[in-house]
Amino acid sequence: VTSVKEVKVCLLGESGVGKSSIVLRFVSDTFKQGLEMTIGASFMTKTLVVDQQTVKFQIWDTAGQERYRALAPMYYRGASAAIIVYDVTKRDTFDAVKGWVRELANYGPKDIIIALAGNKSDLEDLREVTKKEAAQYAEQIQAIFIETSAKNDSGIKELFTRIISRLPAD
Ligand code: GDP
Ligand code: MG
Repeated sequence: VTSVKEVKVCLLGESGVGKSSIVLRFVSDTFKQGLEMTIGASFMTKTLVVDQQTVKFQIWDTAGQERYRALAPMYYRGASAAIIVYDVTKRDTFDAVKGWVRELANYGPKDIIIALAGNKSDLEDLREVTKKEAAQYAEQIQAIFIETSAKNDSGIKELFTRIISRLPAD
């Protein structure tokens, strides 16, 4: 009998950075231009098998409440990891990451794994945040760092795989 590890992950970051697109890519392997997602269900699930370990992710996406900083405590409760997303073409969304890190420190579970995802890496010509600067910040806060493109399916599976590798052994 193989055991299934259930892992709750929540997404944070400014509106429009691509949180819902990352979830949609990971869960359904699709991408929609101009997505304005209203998610009825509060979370989606996706199972990954890595190194003979089965992990069932319970992924919590916001339905737009991030605009008002009105995320309910249940959004973080019991989460093993938080993915903080910014848009590599919008510096203000990277500057806002610090605020989300603070919010997690104040209201999130102790020892939560933080992953910083620089999304829209396909838009190289419009880049405003260098990989180096983001990697340095991630190191400072001991976060996983990866650049992703929900559009081109780049880095998304690796993001979740790297979260698995940081989960405490049981
Ligand atoms: P959210 O508000 O953080 O959930 O962001 P959405 O997932 O709704 O995405 C906002 C917009 O960015 C939509 O028009 C998406 O199609 C677009 N988008 C999301 N991810 C990417 C990406 O990796 N590359 C590009 N070029 N556009 C993206
Ligand atoms: Mg969204």
